[in-house]
Amino acid sequence: YEPSGPAPIRRLQESLINRIAAGEIIHRPASALKELLENSLDAGATAIRVTVKDGGLKLLQIQDNGCGIRQSDLPILAERFTTSKLSTFSDLSKLTTYGFRGEALASISHVAHLSVVTKTKTSACAHKAHYSDGKLVPAQPGQSEEPKPCAGNDGTTITIENLFFNTPTRLSALRNTSDEYARILDVLTKYAIHNAKVSFSCKKAGSSSPDLSTPSASTTRQAIKMLYGHSIEKDLLQATVNESANNSKVWSSEVYFTSANYQAKKMIFLLFINSRLVESSRIKRAIENVYSGILPKGAAPFVYLSIKIDPRSVDVNVHPTKKEVHFLDEEEITTQICDSLQAKIAEGSHSRVFEYQT
Ligand code: ADP
Ligand code: MG
Repeated sequence: YEPSGPAPIRRLQESLINRIAAGEIIHRPASALKELLENSLDAGATAIRVTVKDGGLKLLQIQDNGCGIRQSDLPILAERFTTSKLSTFSDLSKLTTYGFRGEALASISHVAHLSVVTKTKTSACAHKAHYSDGKLVPAQPGQSEEPKPCAGNDGTTITIENLFFNTPTRLSALRNTSDEYARILDVLTKYAIHNAKVSFSCKKAGSSSPDLSTPSASTTRQAIKMLYGHSIEKDLLQATVNESANNSKVWSSEVYFTSANYQAKKMIFLLFINSRLVESSRIKRAIENVYSGILPKGAAPFVYLSIKIDPRSVDVNVHPTKKEVHFLDEEEITTQICDSLQAKIAEGSHSRVFEYQT
């Protein structure tokens, strides 16, 4: 024994490497849900149902009526870097889907029990498959791992059970299941606003009444009213801000934001860039600045902002957990949007004054 000598370097076990990597993508039930939601939306679903037990740690199930997965694709479904959305490097710049790296299901299979029931329109029946560590596994020990034919509707149901069962430290950090459930509802609420035409529901397993439920074919305004309440919706303004060059749009944005009449304690800010829920402290600060000249101190607005930019100007190849985005001409785009908000809010308060005078 040499007290001063270095410890030998050893290669980590493959399964441990995968588990560590998965934990970087799937932080908590809500981050798994975000991936699954994006998959369902990529699959063209118009109805998405979520069922949750123990804040998503015991059970997180998402059922959609999207295009389904072909039976022949099931064996590699949960392998890392398997995707139907990207085949060449140049595709990366033209992406219109949420997913592309084929890592979500793989990651989930390393830190949870994953099963899938899926049916395409042309298939006569559904198939069910179970996954562990990226690979197909039997439903019960001793059985075959082949996907089994079963009854099922068109679409896909993904079931995640016992999330983080094999990473006890992560699991013990997530003991507050009602907090995890609140985060799940928050992600769902935001996607339901951004996808107002899609019907969403979320309930706890065993409960008959959903905690979140939206009909299909709503408008954005109706969805905001339903999910955030009438007090926000009645003071809601809307703006569309675009920039075009050579007859084609360089970028476009749509904003729903409260007028000077609405004052909350904490800002509600929903930011979607190319339909992906993201965070940007810089954009948030710029909007807060607009309102700080309008609202009394301590009061905050509701703002839902959706920006569509050329996929080539967003760096999508950042780490998947890096929700904080950066894109080309960010400052210029932010300034134009903020100027437009400022003008609309000023206009809104003028018309209120005008109402008083008549
Ligand atoms: P990515 O979304 O980056 O491609 P995922 O691991 O999330 O990677 O999914 C892998 C593949 O599984 C997808 O490319 C898609 O073909 C298929 N898939 C996953 N979820 C669904 C779903 N709900 N409906 C249809 N296909 C799905
Ligand atoms: Mg995906």
